[in-house]
Amino acid sequence: MLNIMQRNLIKLISILTIRIPIYVLGYICALLLISCSDREVDHAVPTTPAIEIIANSDWPVHGLDHGEQRFSPLRAINRDNVAKLGLAWFFDLPGGRGQEATPLVVDGVMYTTSAWSHVFALDAATGEELWHFDPQVAKATAAKGCCDAVNRGAAYSENKVFVGTLDGQLIALNAESGKLIWSTTTVDQTKQYTITGAPRVIDSKVFIGNGGAEFGVRGYISAYDARTGELLWRFYTVPGGPNDPTGVEPHELSSKTWYGSWWKLGGGGTVWDSMAYDKDTNTLYFGVGNGSPWNPNIRSAGKGDNLFLSSIVAVDATSGEYRWHYQTTPGEGWDYTATQHMVLADLEIDGQIRNVLLQAPKNGFFYVLDRHTGELISAEPYVRVTWASKIDIETGRPVVNPQAEYWKTGQVAAVAPAWTGGHNWHPMSYSTSTGLVYLPAQETAFPYLGDDKQTYSSIATNLGVDVSAASFPDNQIMIALAQQSTTGMLLAWDPIQQKEVWRAQHRGAWNGGVLATAGGLVFQGSAAGFFNAYDADTGAELWQVSAQTGIVAAPISFAVNGDQYISVSAGWGGIFALVSGPIGLNAAGGDPVNRSRILTFKLGAQRTLPAITEKQRTMPDLTSIEIDAASVQAGFRIYDRYCGACHGAGAIGGGVVADLRYSSALYSDTAWQKIVIDGALQANGMISFAAELSGDDAESIRHYVIGRNHYANKIGATKRLSH
Ligand code: CA
Repeated sequence: MLNIMQRNLIKLISILTIRIPIYVLGYICALLLISCSDREVDHAVPTTPAIEIIANSDWPVHGLDHGEQRFSPLRAINRDNVAKLGLAWFFDLPGGRGQEATPLVVDGVMYTTSAWSHVFALDAATGEELWHFDPQVAKATAAKGCCDAVNRGAAYSENKVFVGTLDGQLIALNAESGKLIWSTTTVDQTKQYTITGAPRVIDSKVFIGNGGAEFGVRGYISAYDARTGELLWRFYTVPGGPNDPTGVEPHELSSKTWYGSWWKLGGGGTVWDSMAYDKDTNTLYFGVGNGSPWNPNIRSAGKGDNLFLSSIVAVDATSGEYRWHYQTTPGEGWDYTATQHMVLADLEIDGQIRNVLLQAPKNGFFYVLDRHTGELISAEPYVRVTWASKIDIETGRPVVNPQAEYWKTGQVAAVAPAWTGGHNWHPMSYSTSTGLVYLPAQETAFPYLGDDKQTYSSIATNLGVDVSAASFPDNQIMIALAQQSTTGMLLAWDPIQQKEVWRAQHRGAWNGGVLATAGGLVFQGSAAGFFNAYDADTGAELWQVSAQTGIVAAPISFAVNGDQYISVSAGWGGIFALVSGPIGLNAAGGDPVNRSRILTFKLGAQRTLPAITEKQRTMPDLTSIEIDAASVQAGFRIYDRYCGACHGAGAIGGGVVADLRYSSALYSDTAWQKIVIDGALQANGMISFAAELSGDDAESIRHYVIGRNHYANKIGATKRLSH
């Protein structure tokens, strides 16, 4: 008799081979479970990089400038000498989780963050620690987040450093001492909110959003007074229910695009990462995330555009007053956030200089918008896209492929891109020298199967999608296919012609953010653990160094005392690493280990990283422990919803959290219950699931994980480095 997983696999294969052209087979990839998001004058970046040597040059704001171009004017390091680039210093970061921060450099001091929202001030030329602030985030907070305990960086203004913490605080620190000046709680602590994004500061206002749209929250962005921490305004991205607060948003515009009782499940639309600012018009732009839950049938009776999900929204930075919005994916159902990095640029289009906003959101189209009006100028796919055939320029709306709307068909829909996106949070870069955008893109796809009957959970993801349909841990053929077809590449993209100019191929998806420089170089780290420099014109690889761990963050460049430096946060992690099991392991080179560090390079430096000392461990052989097939099957489904978000598809971990197949607690049902039900490891982040899981449920999960151990022993995959 076929089990559910096998039936779903057959369903999926039949979809792939009958209803979709065979080439799409190559894109079933992220098939696993989900879970689980003014310039100051003296820091100004010249638009024309005419200065050969700049003695001191900062990286004062998140994207270098508030248009977030991430294009360094420095060119002491260039095509001709990049081969002489060497390690100047490294600094070990705590946390052992994904490192996603973009460091800042102000007056020779680097301010950066690590996993678990630690904040550091370092001497930017030497790496010497000046101070360290630990906000003491409880490890159990990680269970509220979809996407690892990451933090994407700090903001700096007027001798203060601002950081959003995983547990929803916005804090202001004295930049010289690291002492706390003020702290404010920005989220309802009873709900599944987290902060992973970097705040932005403009004219003494701090802007911060939050995450949680996989768990049932309502998204918003807030502005606080940088001096006092007082809340100035709040813009809710989705309309609330009868008893919910309202902010400065145009409720009359958004509420008529929703149906049913959407507010009961939050609605989603979290502002978890991207912002940009146009000083000329005092306009703040922010990107809005996916719906909560994903499945529109549960969220909004299967209809409506659901504003402002999946939108770019422009507001007056002083008041928060709405100016315009552009919705990339109306009524989205695939986790197609528009929270991806936005760049402001001035492009000559059809003989006219246009002030534009550029974004490559998860949905696979590269958008060029007029940043004053939100008018769509152009949109073309930058990766394989199957959910829509095109974006209609007249209406600005996508022409959706009906087969992709799983909530309407009731069938599995194999859709590209996957929920991981053609591009995720990893910042892109725009070079005013080459006129190209350098985009960390990825080819992904996912088999979506709606589950309209899924009930709300306060401790697991709420997607309304049966992620078990995408999980087939015993099928080596499908796993191999998925590994081979989930690829990543650095794309050099012409935003005027809307076409690819060159690409550098990576082993897999989830590669680092990007820096372009006036030295004709593009820097990017890879999931596979290398840090690379490419020729900005041709894509030729000019330099490479091992980072001993996957890099997902974006590099920066700065100068101190006449020396140009390149810095990057290294440390494998983030949602793809946690959840995607064998696909993530493949992207990261097979058996990744998180080694979290800031790496800083300059010409002629010759430091080396410490030799790798991790030894291989052998998995215990539990094949003598009998398991019950029905329990394994029940445990598989519970695991996928409650456990897979952190411990990964197939219980194998992703090189970040423990590989459960090695767990000594598997030997004993009581030891296992103490952890899963009684919360014995809560201090480590492993919360109790007693609120929703029974002792029998926990025992089923144990049987499932022992089954994964049996399978690994059967196929001989029983050695790992540190997990
Ligand atoms: Ca999401």
